[in-house]
Parts: sequence; C-alpha cells; structure tokens
Amino acid sequence: MKNSRRDFLQKLAASAATLPFLSSYHTFANSGLRPITLSQSPTLKVALMGLGGYASRVAEAMQSCKRAKITGLISGTPEKLADWGNRFGVPETSRYNYENLDRIKDNPEIDAVYVITPNALHHDHVIRVAKAGKHAICEKPMALNANEGQEMVDACTRARVKLLVGYRMHFEPKTVEVVRMRAAGEFGKIKFFQGQCGFRIGDPNQWRLDKDLAGGGAMMDIGIYAINGSRYMVGEEPIWVTAQETKTDSVKFKEGVDETIQFQLGFPSGAVASCLSTYNMNYLDRFFLNGEKGFAEMQPSTGYGPIKGRTNKGELTQPHVTHQTLQMDAMAGIILDGDVPIVPVDGHEGLRDLKIIDAVYRAAATGIKQELELG
Ligand code: NAD
Repeated sequence: MKNSRRDFLQKLAASAATLPFLSSYHTFANSGLRPITLSQSPTLKVALMGLGGYASRVAEAMQSCKRAKITGLISGTPEKLADWGNRFGVPETSRYNYENLDRIKDNPEIDAVYVITPNALHHDHVIRVAKAGKHAICEKPMALNANEGQEMVDACTRARVKLLVGYRMHFEPKTVEVVRMRAAGEFGKIKFFQGQCGFRIGDPNQWRLDKDLAGGGAMMDIGIYAINGSRYMVGEEPIWVTAQETKTDSVKFKEGVDETIQFQLGFPSGAVASCLSTYNMNYLDRFFLNGEKGFAEMQPSTGYGPIKGRTNKGELTQPHVTHQTLQMDAMAGIILDGDVPIVPVDGHEGLRDLKIIDAVYRAAATGIKQELELG
C-alpha cells in the first residue's frame, strides 16, 4: 500500500515536471495527498530556535521533508548546539546563541527561522528574525496578545519577509478534507461547531504554568486549537464571544493562569460554536461540525495523530503523514513559491486567534459578551 502510493507519487512528480502548476500545495490539498515537489524546486533552509521538546519533534519530522532542511540552530545552551549540530549536520558557522543570533543576516545558508521558544519570547524573537531579513515561522500562540501580534505582523511587513504560524493542522489530510467538504457545501449551511481541547498538565513548575512566560494557561496552549478550529471548520470569522472560567486548584493555576474555560462564539451566518479549553481533563481532543445536510466528527482532532474521524458520508480515510513533515514542506512552498494553502497560516491568521483569545479572557473576567472585529 505504502509502496504503491510512493510509486504513484513518483510518477505524478515526474509528469508534473512539464506541468509546473501541479507543484502547488493547493492543487493537492483536495486530493488528500502530500504536496508534490519538482526535483528542481529549491529547498527552504531553516534555522530552529529554542531546542526543547517541540523543536525535537520538528527536527525529527524534518528528516523526511522533501523541500525543507535544518541548516541553522539557535540556543542558549552550548552543549545542545554541539549535540544537535552533530546530529543534524549543522556546521559551527550556522550555530548561534541569543546574543549573536542577529548575525544570521549574513548567513546565506538560512532562509527562515522557526521560533519554538516559550510563548512570551515569540514577539521579540520574531522581530529580531525579521530585522535580520529572514522569514519567520513562529509557534502558536503567535504572541501573548493582539497588540504584540500586530507589532510582529508590522515588523515582518516592513522587513518584506513572510511570517507564518506553526498551525500544523492546516496541512493534515483529514482536516483538509473536512474543510474541503464544508467549503464545497457538502454539509449544507453550517449551524454548530463544538471544539473540546485539553489535557491534564503535570509538573507545576513548568513555564506553561508561569503567567510571565506562557501569557495565561490552557487557553494559550491548547484552547487555541478550539479557537482556530472553530474558524476553519465553520469557515467564517466570529463576531462575538462569551466565556466562563472555572478553577479547582488555585495553587497550581495561579492568578492569570486559566485552568478551564468554556466559551461560545457567534458567526455572521447565525452559526454558533461551543468550546472547552482545559489543563485538567485527559482524553479531550474532539471536534464536531453540524450542518443542515451533514456532519463531521473528529477524535482525536488536533493531537499528533493519527487523526480519526468520519462524516455523514463515512470514515475519513486519508493517510496519516507526520504533521510537521507535511507542514514544513508546505511552508517551503508558501515561502519560496507563493503557494496558497487551503487554510491560511500567515501572521494575520495568528493575529485573529490572538484577538479572540484577548476577548475570551475579557469575557471570562467580566461575564460580559464581547463583540469581535477581526478585520
Ligand atoms: P520546551 O520547554 O520543551 O522548550 C522550550 C525551549 O526554549 C527550551 O529549549 C528552552 O531552553 C528554550 N528557552 C529559551 N529561552 C528560554 C527562557 N527564557 N525560558 C525558558 N525556556 C527558554 O517547550 P515546547 O513544548 O518545546 O514549547 C515551545 C513552543 O512550541 C511553545 O510556544 C508551544 O506553544 C509550542 N508548541 C507547539 C506545539 C504544536 O503542536 N504546534 C506543540 C508543543 C509546543
């Protein structure tokens, strides 16, 4: 099965050599296949910044990329730079720390920097990357709030570099298929979305539970998947939000660190979303979309996969491919070829989520419905 798919892709890639438009991700999004690249397509040269847990996952996944490779490393820990440098073949001349990282501007072996540091650092790191004239790929949440996010978008626009957010689900084949079906009207008029995202967080001393580094709690880390998912599943931008917070452990979840928030979004068509974000429940990774002619349900819906799901037409059978491999190949196409993904991953997309998060926090604190103007 795997081999026959590979043969098929190879044949397709060969025939695509005479049909360059076939190299676009968009073309293949509908087919559920990974992006096909032409052999002569350039490779995106990526420096990873912040060599922690998620960067490890990205680095491993990038070993299978066709169009993106690790060519630089940025870390405050010399031992990590040496270890990762040896493992991923990054020479000392392309290893940087947080003091000298601005020198990447003189390094032609780096096209883009993937910022994978704790949330509070994204703003300054992305702006430094932009000032060095390199494209920025930034982990979610893009920043701590919409003001910071706007500054990042502006800095990248001024520097004429791209800003992308690590929304890996936007390239996940089953997700893309549900988005395609919804956009094609196969579920009819959308009425309702439910997004439930959470896990029980462990170590009370980690940065995710430190307001200064995380910017909040579960909402910043995992609830953002329900927010972002609401938008791409419903296919509209929300115009209001209401929210309610509950906290069962005020020692672990200090002031400004949310444990559990339920929130509701309203959309211009009249569709509504009902969502749950929590650091206090396991097995919570579920999307449900309801329309007048059909439905989609996915569980797990945003974990590392395999994603599972079905619609009123049957099981979703698109193959599982490591999310970060698909993401980085597709991002190479976006940055180098101007490909347009079926669901955007640019800075404006990240900024809209931050505006909603700001409003969720305001709604939870005041109990008052917040109007949204996402622009
Ligand atoms: P982590 O703690 O495992 O790694 C963070 C890295 O940043 C560490 O190597 C740490 O040394 C470094 N760092 C640099 N400056 C630091 C400072 N001042 N304080 C603390 N650490 C500092 O965290 P992680 O799980 O890799 O998360 C990093 C980012 O990636 C977060 O923004 C998170 O939301 C995001 N993330 C995204 C996904 C996803 O699926 N898209 C999954 C996990 C994490």
